[in-house]
Amino acid sequence: MTNPSCELDPNEDKIREECGVFGIFGLENAASLTALGLHALQHRGQEACGIAAYDGQQFRTERHLGLVGDSFTGDDPSQRLPGNISIGHVRYSTAGQTVLRNVQPLFSELHTGGFALAHNGHITNAYTLREQLVKKGAIFQSTSDTEVVIHLLARAKEGEFIDRLVSAIRQVDGGYAFVGMTEKLLIGVRDRFGIRPLLIGRIGNSYVLASETCAFDMIEAEFIREVEPGEVVVINEDGIRSFTAYPNASSRPCIFEFVYFARPDSIVGGKSVYEVRKRMGQRLAEETPADVDVIIPVPDSGVPAALGFSQATGIPFELGIIRNHYVGRTFIQPTQQIRDMGVKLKHSANRSMIEGKRVLLVDDSIVRGTTSTKIVRMIKAAGAKEVHFRSASPPIKYPDHYGIDMPTKDKLIAANYSLEEMTSMLEVDSLGFLSVEGLYWAMGEKFREEDAPQYTDHCFTGCYPTPLIDRDRQLLGGNQLSFLVEVA
Ligand code: AMP
Repeated sequence: MTNPSCELDPNEDKIREECGVFGIFGLENAASLTALGLHALQHRGQEACGIAAYDGQQFRTERHLGLVGDSFTGDDPSQRLPGNISIGHVRYSTAGQTVLRNVQPLFSELHTGGFALAHNGHITNAYTLREQLVKKGAIFQSTSDTEVVIHLLARAKEGEFIDRLVSAIRQVDGGYAFVGMTEKLLIGVRDRFGIRPLLIGRIGNSYVLASETCAFDMIEAEFIREVEPGEVVVINEDGIRSFTAYPNASSRPCIFEFVYFARPDSIVGGKSVYEVRKRMGQRLAEETPADVDVIIPVPDSGVPAALGFSQATGIPFELGIIRNHYVGRTFIQPTQQIRDMGVKLKHSANRSMIEGKRVLLVDDSIVRGTTSTKIVRMIKAAGAKEVHFRSASPPIKYPDHYGIDMPTKDKLIAANYSLEEMTSMLEVDSLGFLSVEGLYWAMGEKFREEDAPQYTDHCFTGCYPTPLIDRDRQLLGGNQLSFLVEVA
């Protein structure tokens, strides 16, 4: 089956988020466990975080701009947010969207009772749905695509709460994982291709939902299974029930979780992220060898692949770049100017491992080329004789539309320049990328070019699993929809 969206060549999106979600049902001090789970998911979003809890009488939410550790410190969070049902969210968004009213969980009073919702991903038809809802009288409180789901749920007419939820979910498309809660239920939903991750865990008789297994490890929960593509799971005191939102769902999780997004100690789709990244490095060594004295990872994202490269070739691995852990990831700075400075703030050269040597730098990916350019200059200034660069993923040629922050196509270096041009722009002696076949090999799979791919790999192939319904409207900022920007 060829995919109709493979031909699309999208350029831009506007409402986008990198996020992590967490939920727990049936344990005292649920909010404290949620705060711990969010700590483990912090790498998925560093701009904002929030927790909602219900104590049998009242819903409470606490939402902050900033890190989990800075927001939920001091007193035990469950003192302020008591109850044994809780959900939480960590968030990263693009400029203009970082306002408290967009921070999740979002809470609404529906005619079925209180409802809190946290979302990782992106709803690709959010603009169309939002416009239809506004025309029918809906009043939106945020600019987040997540709120569309709440309005659809509020307007669903038939049946029990779950029937209404399923009918609302059927109207949204894209890549998403939702964690929601009512007075009596914890709910998990995954999109029809399982693009964004969502997992079920257990502590005793209580259930936990999270974006990654590292959150289960944090609270000593046992991993049970993944929420299936198109599945809605509903947890209450009788246990767990499963509903099908999309009968024709098929599994096509996002491959970029393995490349960059997931924490290396997480298990995604039954595979160790760390092991997969090492295999990417091993295969990279076979595909694009380098005659060098030392292999240096760009920390932290390049470490497993650099180790794999080193172990495959016998070339020594050294920590030639030291990362300052007290600044955030490069991408959390929304402007180019600050991002440029951010690279220097974040990395410094370990001169004794570099001077007079032929150095191979390994990173997980090259996006704009900003990080690599700065790092190459830094390594040269530290006295390297030669500098070679390898990306442990294929050239990123297409933007994401399913909740991973990616710049527009005109800013993706590999979308605009040849290997030769990039080699000279990065000022390196040689440059190499892993092939798409090599990436699939590292995942233990065979790349099926002619077939429906096993993963959502559009960043490398341009093959988007869903139609990008509102792509052009996103380019124009939603046409006639005015998204309020709060300046104070
Ligand atoms: P760039 O400087 O734009 O080429 O970005 C490359 C660096 O950003 C690499 O070190 C990657 O580890 C990292 N990176 C790749 N994708 C993302 C993303 N979606 N969000 C944040 N950082 C990323």
